[in-house]
Amino acid sequence: MSGAEQERIRVLTPFVANQIAAGEVVERPASALKELLENSIDAGADRIDVDLEEGGTRLIRVRDNGRGVHADDLALATARHATSKIATAEDLAAIGSLGFRGEALASISSVARLQITSRQRGAAHGFRLDEDGLITPAAHPEGTTVEMRDLFYNTPARRRFLKTVRTELQHAEEVVRRLALSRFEVGFTLAHNGRRLRDLPAVTHIDDVRARLAAVCGDEFVASYEALDCANGAMRLHGWVGSASAARAQPDLQFLFVNGRLVRDRLVSAAVRRAYADVMYHGRHPAFVLYFELNAADVDVNVHPTKSEVRFRDSRSVHDFLFGAVQRGVRAARPLAGAASAPSSVTEIFTAGAGEVPAADAASVAQAGSVARVMPHRQFEFRMPNPPSAAGVRASTALYETLFKVEPAAEPAGVTPPLGYAIAQLHGIYVLAQNAAGLVIVDMHAAHERITFERMKRALDAGGVITQRLLVPQVVAVSEREAALAEDAANELLSLGFALDRQGPDRVVVREIPTPLIGADIAALTRDVLAEAVEHGGAQHLLRARDELLANVACRAAVRAHRKLTLPEMNQLLRDMEETEAAGQCSHGRPTVMQQSLGEIDRLFLRGR
Ligand code: ADP
Ligand code: MG
Repeated sequence: MSGAEQERIRVLTPFVANQIAAGEVVERPASALKELLENSIDAGADRIDVDLEEGGTRLIRVRDNGRGVHADDLALATARHATSKIATAEDLAAIGSLGFRGEALASISSVARLQITSRQRGAAHGFRLDEDGLITPAAHPEGTTVEMRDLFYNTPARRRFLKTVRTELQHAEEVVRRLALSRFEVGFTLAHNGRRLRDLPAVTHIDDVRARLAAVCGDEFVASYEALDCANGAMRLHGWVGSASAARAQPDLQFLFVNGRLVRDRLVSAAVRRAYADVMYHGRHPAFVLYFELNAADVDVNVHPTKSEVRFRDSRSVHDFLFGAVQRGVRAARPLAGAASAPSSVTEIFTAGAGEVPAADAASVAQAGSVARVMPHRQFEFRMPNPPSAAGVRASTALYETLFKVEPAAEPAGVTPPLGYAIAQLHGIYVLAQNAAGLVIVDMHAAHERITFERMKRALDAGGVITQRLLVPQVVAVSEREAALAEDAANELLSLGFALDRQGPDRVVVREIPTPLIGADIAALTRDVLAEAVEHGGAQHLLRARDELLANVACRAAVRAHRKLTLPEMNQLLRDMEETEAAGQCSHGRPTVMQQSLGEIDRLFLRGR
């Protein structure tokens, strides 16, 4: 095409139009799989079997036992703007199905070879629509099988954007996990290259809900979650929130369904994040599976081609309701329950209010403010890995000793060091010290985090981190994805000071860790390191993301709030801070130290006036 001819306007052929639309709907095998699974769910199936080959690039086959497609409609199924789910523009105002745009199959058939075989419920036999648009009778049980082969066979430019088989498979698995969480009553299986990867039977009894949750989200989540169910008017939020101790290095366990549809919505995530804000350290991500239901007319799902974004009619009240409801669940999920029965020497370490929380009714939950009011003493919370145990506290003090080679405190004599000398520990959180100017307040966790981070960084920069072999190698349960990464990235992990071997599909064994981390919770650390490595895109990116990784590792390894330190330990912390670069902030950017001058304190007491 050239010259004047190029500037003329023409109507694109349907095929080209579909290919353009496919750019939005079908990004990769997983996105096509999502559309096919949603169609099966919309067809009322309660059993869906997925077969993939080569991560879905060669084949995606979805077989369901749903209503099926009428023979005369088969050809229409792949036409653009052809749908059985809405008829008029008014229907758009209250969508009850997952699909409605009528473009998924059209898009897919423009970038892959598509074949649909279906037998409608009650029909004598089935029909097949093949790649060339021919319809022939075919044997098929009631339900539908959609086969999509050779994705992007006709668009090489897009084929080049596909990642490795493993990556594409991971995305596809993620889609199955999401849908499995959105429809407990549907059974799913997933096979890859003939090997069964997942078998999630339909949940028909309430007792099996937990099993599916564990299968999808892992045992750790199920061990610590708190169920929640709140309603206000037509809005209802129910599901499970993980405690702060089940927080992740990555936001990879966050599922929020709006009227049964998984969405990524800024407003919703902001509300949830805010609800977790005071229990979650910066840089950590909560785990949750939540279902938000509201009138279909109050939410617009037709905002984005993949339907993963929504718009609320009254976003303010949605935000406030979600915030209040989640906050209440999160506070109930705190792992403080064991504190009351712990030995008295330990209980004093945990000073947070353990009083009973009056159950807020649904209406008051709707207003964030009122929730905060009924439990004012719970405003301040700290992430604690586990309910306290005497042994744990001893271990943590021991950890600190090995880390900082505690020596008897130097007698305060001569020149006072910049951060002065410790005089006390406040509520197990802050170290109070006296220096020449006045009062120094140190957040001991944040400070320790910074010191650990800088030490590890320096050791790595100097050409090698000093590691320590564990006396007893520790087996850690991780996700399959993480285990695979441990295998792939063994060398990179080793250069960061972690010697790990894969042991079985979802287990790794830890043999060596960086010396500054001795005494930390190895299982939690390992999971964090691997989760983070997965997030950063695997082995190649691991070293590039080194500092971020170290920051989280340091946070994990640092002394927790509510741990008692001796005066010599506190002084050692102050000395270490003085030697540490950027000690004024923790590795996540929170301040670690504050100075109150004597003059400021005098003014508080109106002295000298
Ligand atoms: P939409 O889901 O937005 O309606 P699609 O292109 O995904 O558009 O599907 C077009 C139509 O094909 C659907 O409206 C539905 O009638 C039919 N269809 C697709 N998949 C199935 C299935 N698995 N079972 C029954 N009908 C299906
Ligand atoms: Mg659809």
